[in-house]
Amino acid sequence: MTLSKAYRQILIILGLSSVTFLMLFFGFARDNRDLIFLAFVFSFCLTVAIVTATLDFRKNEKIRKQLEYMTKSIVSHQPVAPLFIRPGNPYKQIADQLTELQSRQQDESKTIKNSNTELVTILSSLPVGIMVIDSSQDVIFANHKMASMLQRSIMNQPHSYSQDIRNYQLLSLIERVFEDHESQQTEIRSVGDHSSTWDTSVVYNQLENDYHISVIMYDISDIINVKQMQIDFLRNASHELKTPVTAISGFAKTLLGGAMDDRKTLVEFLKIIDQQSTQLTSLIQDVLTISHIQNGTPHHSQALELRKFVDTKLTGYSSMAKVRDITLVDEVPQDAVVSVDSQMLTRILQNLVSNAIKYNRSGGSVTVKYSANDSFWQLQVVDTGIGIAQKDISRLFERFYRADDSRTKQKVSGTGLGLAIVKELVDSIGGVIHVKSQRGVGSTFTVEFPINDESQTAQVDK
Ligand code: ADP
Repeated sequence: MTLSKAYRQILIILGLSSVTFLMLFFGFARDNRDLIFLAFVFSFCLTVAIVTATLDFRKNEKIRKQLEYMTKSIVSHQPVAPLFIRPGNPYKQIADQLTELQSRQQDESKTIKNSNTELVTILSSLPVGIMVIDSSQDVIFANHKMASMLQRSIMNQPHSYSQDIRNYQLLSLIERVFEDHESQQTEIRSVGDHSSTWDTSVVYNQLENDYHISVIMYDISDIINVKQMQIDFLRNASHELKTPVTAISGFAKTLLGGAMDDRKTLVEFLKIIDQQSTQLTSLIQDVLTISHIQNGTPHHSQALELRKFVDTKLTGYSSMAKVRDITLVDEVPQDAVVSVDSQMLTRILQNLVSNAIKYNRSGGSVTVKYSANDSFWQLQVVDTGIGIAQKDISRLFERFYRADDSRTKQKVSGTGLGLAIVKELVDSIGGVIHVKSQRGVGSTFTVEFPINDESQTAQVDK
C-alpha cells in the first residue's frame, strides 16, 4: 500500500509528461495558444511532481542507510539508538520491527549477563578450585579457592596459565590435555610449607567451533590424613595389643613349663602378666570410651571436694611416677568444691596426669593446680617434661595422633587416643581445653568448665 506511493508518483510524472508533450505538440501544430498555456501549467505540475518524488527518494534513501546501519549493529551486538519513522513511510514497519528486535536482544543480553554474574558468584564461593583455560592457553576464569590452593593471586585479564601454575605435575597434566584433547584425572601433591593433596580433574570441553579446558581441584589432604591416621592407629593398636598379649602368653608358658615351682620367679612373672593385662585393658578401654562418647553418654554432675579427688587420683599414679623418679604435687586448695561428672573428670585427669608422667624427664614433677572465677573453674596439669613442638600442638587432640618424638625417640607406649578422649569429654561437658608447651621445659594442659546455677547449689557428695 505504501510502496504504491512511489508507483503513483511515477505514473503521475509519466501522465503529466505525456499530457504536457501532447498539449505542446498540438498547441504548436495548430497554433492554439490556450493549449500551449495549458501545456505550461501541466509542465509546472510535472516539475512539482518530479521535485516531490526526488525529495521523497532522498529521504527514503537516508532511512534505508540508517536501517542498514541498525541491522549491522544488531548483528554485531552493538548498542544503537532506536529509529522513529512517521506513519505512511514504506520503511516504518521494518524500522519498528528492528527496534523491537534490538530491545529484545538487549533484554536477553542483560539476562545472560545476570546469569553469568550469578554463575561466577557461585563458582567463586565453591570450596573447589576451578580454572578455565581457553584454546589459546589463556586463563579466562579462576575462582578464589584456586588462587588460595595455588598460593598466588590470579589476574582477571586473560593471561597464560603458566603464570599462575608452578606445580610441575599439574602443568604436565594440562599440557597432556591440550595435546591429546582428552580429559585427565589424578591426585597431585603440592610441595612447599603447607603440603597438601589435590584430587585434580582436567576436563576437555568441546564447544561449537572451539574448546576450553577446565581444571577442577579438590583438597583431599584431610581425607588422606584421616586415612593415614587410621593406618597408623591400626599399626600402633595392633603393635600395642600384640606386645602385652605376647608377653602374657610367653610368661604364662614359661611358668607352666616349670618356672612356677620357683616362688620368686612365679611372683615376678605374675606381676608382669598383671601389668601387661592392665595395658591391654587400657587400650581396649580407650577404644570403647571413644565409641561411648560418640554415642552421646549422659553425664551426672555432682558436688565434688576437688582436693581429695585429685589426691586419690595422684595416689593411683604414685608407683608409675616412682619408677620414673617424678614428684606428684597436688596444689588444689582444700576448700575447692566443684560440680562435675566425677567419672568423666576421672578419665580426663587420668589421661593428662599419665601423659605428664610418660612424657616427663627423670627427676621432674607433675603439679595439679586449680583456680576459679564467677563464670568458670579450671584445672591445670603442669609438667617439667620433654615439651611439644609447635607443629604438633594443633594436631594433639586428633584421634590416633602421636607426636614424632613419642613414637620414635622416646618409644613411649600409647595409642594416640588419650587426648582425643579428653577433648571429646571436655567438649561434652561444655568446657574447653588448651595447651601451652615449650620444648625441653614442659607442658601445661588447662581444662576450663563453666560454672552454672546447679554447681552453686550443689551439696557435697561424700
Ligand atoms: P598417647 O597414647 O600417645 O599418649 P595421647 O593422645 O594421650 O596419646 O597424646 C598424643 C601425643 O601428644 C603423645 O603421643 C605425645 O607425643 C603428646 N603428648 C601428650 N601429652 C604430652 C605431654 N604432657 N608432654 C609432651 N607430649 C605430650
